Amino acid sequence: MGTDVIYLWDFWEGENKTGMPPYWNKGDYVPRSDLGGPAAFRRGVDAVHREGGRVIVYVEGLIVYKNSELGLAHGRDMALQDEHGAYYTDYRNYWSMCPADEAWQRRLAEICVGLVRDMDVDGIFLDSYGAQWNHICANARHSHRPETDVWNQGMTEILSCVRAAVREVKPDAIIMTESTSDLLLPVEDGSCDGSLVWHGPLNGHRLLGSPLKYAFPEANIFSNGYTLAQLNQVFALGGNLAVGPRWEEHADYIRTLVALKRERKDALIYGQMLPSPRTTSPDVVAAAFRGERNAVVTVVNTGVAEIGAEVQLPAELAFLSWRSPLTGARVQVDAKSPVRTLSVTLRPGELQVWLGEG
Ligand SMILES: [Zn+2]
Repeated sequence: MGTDVIYLWDFWEGENKTGMPPYWNKGDYVPRSDLGGPAAFRRGVDAVHREGGRVIVYVEGLIVYKNSELGLAHGRDMALQDEHGAYYTDYRNYWSMCPADEAWQRRLAEICVGLVRDMDVDGIFLDSYGAQWNHICANARHSHRPETDVWNQGMTEILSCVRAAVREVKPDAIIMTESTSDLLLPVEDGSCDGSLVWHGPLNGHRLLGSPLKYAFPEANIFSNGYTLAQLNQVFALGGNLAVGPRWEEHADYIRTLVALKRERKDALIYGQMLPSPRTTSPDVVAAAFRGERNAVVTVVNTGVAEIGAEVQLPAELAFLSWRSPLTGARVQVDAKSPVRTLSVTLRPGELQVWLGEG
């Protein structure tokens, strides 16, 4: 599919007491013995590096399995407690760890540093972080005072701590989180996004805009959706693609999108997202990106019928000629018209990408 970063989860050993699948043993991130253990894991990472790729691995930031070695030894001391002294039970058989406690900050940093130093991985994906907010903590063993905003402040602290620690070992190592916000952008390198998952019921399972990317062009948000139509919406709105094996059937198409993004990265990754272009159909969503060299307008049909629509080009993009690299089509904009528009016809779910020329 043209991507060059591998994200691995489910790589760690389970525990022998409960018979749960290894994935649930969050806390001890020792590479699985049934897949060859740490030595085989390290050889695999080396092989990816020789091919020019990078490897990011999963670590859970919030929860630690009670039967993991870490959970048994330190869970009780490092977990969140409410004002009545009760531990959180959102996840059964898991401790919910407190990001504002310096002991957990140091321990999480040690786990991540170990993976970067010993396994030579290139980054850490911290699950739950960015998706969990506003927890309080009154655990008297913790280094912080009991405050209602302890979690949100702790998020910034723990991400800064982990990122600084892994970068001491590998200066370009990255930290990602499950979701993000303006608070986390300065202390992380990228995130996934729940707009088509947890928030799907709120937005009708459609992306109609990307206010975060508009306000913070440096935000690196990775997503995909469940269908090709949703993946097209992610791409159209400036999101980066994270694609697993089930997308293989669309590999040729996705490779085209990934290449397009690389070639026009000055606009589509590092550029400025302009205010959303108006369109004549509520189902047709457009976005405009301006970079140092390229101007790109993306248009996507979020509806279930073929639609013809006019897309109003932003005044900042004064190009008269537009070319679609996906289809080879070219259109000329009427220079005399006071409002410059692109006329498009889109199949259900279709994405069109237009490059300004001349
Ligand atoms: Zn705490």
